[in-house]
Amino acid sequence: MALKKIITVPNPFLRKKAIPIKEITNEIKNLLDDMLETMYNANGIGLAATQIGDERRLIVIDCGQKNDVSIKKEDDEFCPNPIKMINPELIFFNKELTVREEGCLSIPGYYGKVKRPNIVKVSYIDENNVKKVLKADGLLATCIQHEIDHLNGVLFVDYLSKLKKELILKKATKDYNKKNRN
Ligand code: ZN
Repeated sequence: MALKKIITVPNPFLRKKAIPIKEITNEIKNLLDDMLETMYNANGIGLAATQIGDERRLIVIDCGQKNDVSIKKEDDEFCPNPIKMINPELIFFNKELTVREEGCLSIPGYYGKVKRPNIVKVSYIDENNVKKVLKADGLLATCIQHEIDHLNGVLFVDYLSKLKKELILKKATKDYNKKNRN
């Protein structure tokens, strides 16, 4: 396994729409493992292939087994629950919305409150070529929607007010330029 470099704003690759995978190869299985390792290493709970500069429809997620933080006791230990999704597609959105503070490994250090459906169903193919449907609520539902957005070139800041979005993108771009000057 190998760590991949996570790209950040203002990299224009983050705005690309990813393409579906036709065949699951060993290279893709290895890439999914690398993505998980990269995500854990960065203390993230989700990562899309777009974020490592790969334009295929792949995401990895780990929100633990108790995916709803609202019922999670503080002393509960995090139980790893890695999920690898190939060609994920949202097939159901609940009408009820929920607001959660989101961050993103591609916009490090910035957060914003985003309103999204509180329950979703996602269909995907797993690494063994088995078609699956997962119903998710709580943090997992938010995370799945955030990661699938990446595959469509959408970032969480796109849901914020124009002012807030521009401010975050401006600051994150400044951070990027500062880091890459040295
Ligand atoms: Zn993100």
